[in-house]
Amino acid sequence: MIKRGKPTQHRCSFCGRGEEEVMILVSGMDGQICEVCVEKAQDIIDQELRKAGVAGKEEPGSGKSSRYSGPIHLIPPRDIKTFLDQYVIGQGDAKKVLSVAVYNHYKRLQQFGKAVDSDDVEIEKSNVLFVGQTGTGKTLLAKTIAKLLNVPFTIVDATVFTEAGYVGEDVESILSRLLQVCDYDVEAAERGIVYIDEIDKIARKQDNPSITRDVSGEGVQQGMLKMLEGAEVLVPPQGGRKHPEQKLVKINTQNILFICGGAFDGIDKIIARRVNTQVIGFNKNQEERIDKENLLQYVGHQDIKNYGLIPELVGRMPVVVHLDPLDLDALRRILTEPRNALLRQYEKLFALEGIQLKLEDSALDFIAEKAMEYKLGARGLRSLCEAILTDAMFELPTAGKGEQKQLVIDRAYAQGKLEGSRIGRLKAA
Ligand code: ADP
Repeated sequence: MIKRGKPTQHRCSFCGRGEEEVMILVSGMDGQICEVCVEKAQDIIDQELRKAGVAGKEEPGSGKSSRYSGPIHLIPPRDIKTFLDQYVIGQGDAKKVLSVAVYNHYKRLQQFGKAVDSDDVEIEKSNVLFVGQTGTGKTLLAKTIAKLLNVPFTIVDATVFTEAGYVGEDVESILSRLLQVCDYDVEAAERGIVYIDEIDKIARKQDNPSITRDVSGEGVQQGMLKMLEGAEVLVPPQGGRKHPEQKLVKINTQNILFICGGAFDGIDKIIARRVNTQVIGFNKNQEERIDKENLLQYVGHQDIKNYGLIPELVGRMPVVVHLDPLDLDALRRILTEPRNALLRQYEKLFALEGIQLKLEDSALDFIAEKAMEYKLGARGLRSLCEAILTDAMFELPTAGKGEQKQLVIDRAYAQGKLEGSRIGRLKAA
């Protein structure tokens, strides 16, 4: 029987709350239980079932399964890379290493739960660390991998987290976001992918031996250790900071793949120092082979440690891979080649107005050159296209409907629009 809000003497027999303090009070033979205690009891049951190894604790249709439910299909590394190639230009090394890491991760996951082999070999998980300038495709790679695998994926920014006790978010709320993405389907979240951006920003500040505590640095790194390694973590479902009254969800991070990324500004100097010392004593040919323009390709765990990430954290990201800076050719290709390339997006936008948009090669070259010149990376391509096309997007939908069917943009048009735009003026100043 369910009673609602009547001012009687009924209380929850478990927590003692009165009828007016709760929403629902269910009466039994010798007592009552409120909705809060029902939920708590359900958690206890779930935990016990889990401990006892009873699978399928979630009833179909209970709302806890999601579109990510179901088995993961193992895709060979070569096929993963082929898929990545459709969306990400260049970055051959990063794609290869990521494909292998992801394949091994999910192969390991398939082994998980099967009877332990007689050889007792347990494959450990391989979180990945991307090192590369901003706008080179770190997030894009992680996002594309998640799309391929159909597992929950979330991006978090390491800079919003602070050590427990300080203003900011608890590290555990990284997992809250993953839970939210898959509608609180815990099983799906437990095999998801988390991309932690700007991991370099929580490096220990070496040049600043301040007497105040390093709120955003080492403490946060310590907080991340357990999570990256694989542990049962209590997560506040809504994110933010934990508080005593809150119901927490337990998530095991053992099978969550963490991909961390950062620009690590200035790490090239650390690499140069190491590479130069190593080279001394070797023959001259070896020294010549070092590509001084792109030192990032030699990045190793040692350099990340020297940059200020604590050794324990670096140890939990066994796969370190660099992303190349984007050159003119790469920028030009990014405009047209990926499956959802910028140019295709604009063509579609215009087509919806019945206009055929055509950017001549000279205009595309111009945009890539400007992105290079402004040092905006691939992110700059979008701002440049916006600056060039805004006038047309403003005028054409109303200008003589049905008249202008084709808009052809050449270098001169692009140059003219850019010079008049804010982004163009900014640079000229
Ligand atoms: P970051 O390395 O800073 O994480 P992102 O992956 O967020 O950079 O890239 C920003 C945008 O630039 C992406 O949304 C994508 O459109 C474009 N981009 C960057 N690098 C590439 C690339 N290698 N291939 C295709 N597009 C890219």
